[in-house]
Amino acid sequence: MNGALRAELAKHAEQICKVGKRIYDRGLVSAFGGNISTRVGDAVLITATGSILGELTMQDIVEVSMDGEIMSKGKKPSSELLMHLEVYRTRKDARAVVHTHSPVAVSYAVVGKEIEPLTPEAKMALGSVPLIKYYPSGSQELANATAQSLEKYKDRNSFLLGKHGVLAVGEDLVEAFHRAELVEELAKVNFYVETLNHGLGR
Ligand SMILES: [Zn+2]
Repeated sequence: MNGALRAELAKHAEQICKVGKRIYDRGLVSAFGGNISTRVGDAVLITATGSILGELTMQDIVEVSMDGEIMSKGKKPSSELLMHLEVYRTRKDARAVVHTHSPVAVSYAVVGKEIEPLTPEAKMALGSVPLIKYYPSGSQELANATAQSLEKYKDRNSFLLGKHGVLAVGEDLVEAFHRAELVEELAKVNFYVETLNHGLGR
């Protein structure tokens, strides 16, 4: 690998560490939850299994090929690698994937209820947030179901993973992070609106 590409990968790995901290500080994940990746040419950089998004160092970033071959010797990628790779295969323009366990959105994912874009701003920023059917975390079935939803909802970039969490896709990590952040905000608005309507006996 040439030096320029090596430097490019190092730059993206540093950005994963920075965005990981923002995700953690924002309360979108806790402890070892969540994982993020970015695509650089034919390489994918993804957080290592068991890493804490709020405390990432360069050691926690694993390089894999688009075929899933681990290029960083001795490191183990997130167990959700298959899902990340399917996103990049399905969405050729995607350059970043953020997966969180933000609590209000997860609650909707557990109940199996979609988060609605209740305000004009939410409609513009996110649109609806389709729910991907539950499959075990890390399974090929979940990766396949994710690819199908990405195909079906071509203009959507934020999804709920059944009983699990949030998946946000972007042209870069900051964009994917902002989408994951907006999903949690919108989930809260959905919850408050439902609570108020219910409390008012509507
Ligand atoms: Zn997860």
